[in-house]
Amino acid sequence: MIIDSHVHAGEYHRHYTAEFADQMMATTGRPPQALSAPEAALIAEMDAAGVDMAFLLAFEVSRVEGFSVPGEFVAEMCARHPGRFVGFASVDAGRPGAAADLRHAVADLGLRGLKTAPCYLRMSPADRRWYDVYATAEELGVPLLVHTGYTPSKKADARYFSPLLLEPVARDFPGLTVILAHLGTPWTGPCVELLARHPNLYADLSIFGSYRPAPTVAAALEHARKAGVLDRILWGTDYPFATMTASVARMAELAGDPGLWPDGAPLTPEEHTALMGGTAARLLG
Ligand SMILES: [Zn+2]
Repeated sequence: MIIDSHVHAGEYHRHYTAEFADQMMATTGRPPQALSAPEAALIAEMDAAGVDMAFLLAFEVSRVEGFSVPGEFVAEMCARHPGRFVGFASVDAGRPGAAADLRHAVADLGLRGLKTAPCYLRMSPADRRWYDVYATAEELGVPLLVHTGYTPSKKADARYFSPLLLEPVARDFPGLTVILAHLGTPWTGPCVELLARHPNLYADLSIFGSYRPAPTVAAALEHARKAGVLDRILWGTDYPFATMTASVARMAELAGDPGLWPDGAPLTPEEHTALMGGTAARLLG
């Protein structure tokens, strides 16, 4: 079972602003129009890469970026493809009613997770305005996938990039499962150490696993193994910012080539299976 734990719903003309697409795609070497996941193309990419299921994310940043990918849109895609997607809602705690929005998304739309983008919203993830939202997610038993690390968006606030900002959240909501996106890139070391301090924290490999050199990814995974948290790392791509086919091949390369690893010990078959989907399946119950 292969599960991509970080996939963005949304289409170039329909959802994103040209400014956002320009800034975000510039670092990938692909055109701004590639920031698009039309339903048929996404399903075709999953099938080509052997991806059984994906966490499909809404994205609520309209207060700052002027657009959103709504939970309703995500829920409709989930309904058209039973068993292929786990839909994630997205809310902005800088607006009134965010916790109620999450409750509606879970109770009425059938979404099963929450994606937040604090730095894009110019808020710390530890800002107290999020606490109603976190308490609601904890009560409803839905995981939080939170952006951590760098983003090329010029409207984002770089003071809120660090994964370490999640420490008070991990402590104050021990029953909330929190997935730190992008392994906190470029702060992957501190991110791994933070996971070691809090058992309710996970991290995904999206973007980092696709774009950093293979030995760099291997070194980060070896760090996670030594810190005892490799079983809380999830494979993901951030599609359409990266392709699934190339990323699946990259992970297979990491499992098969001892020469890429500082200690010469590549992923075991069990570790590889867990990383590619076993851990995500366990997290969802
Ligand atoms: Zn993302």
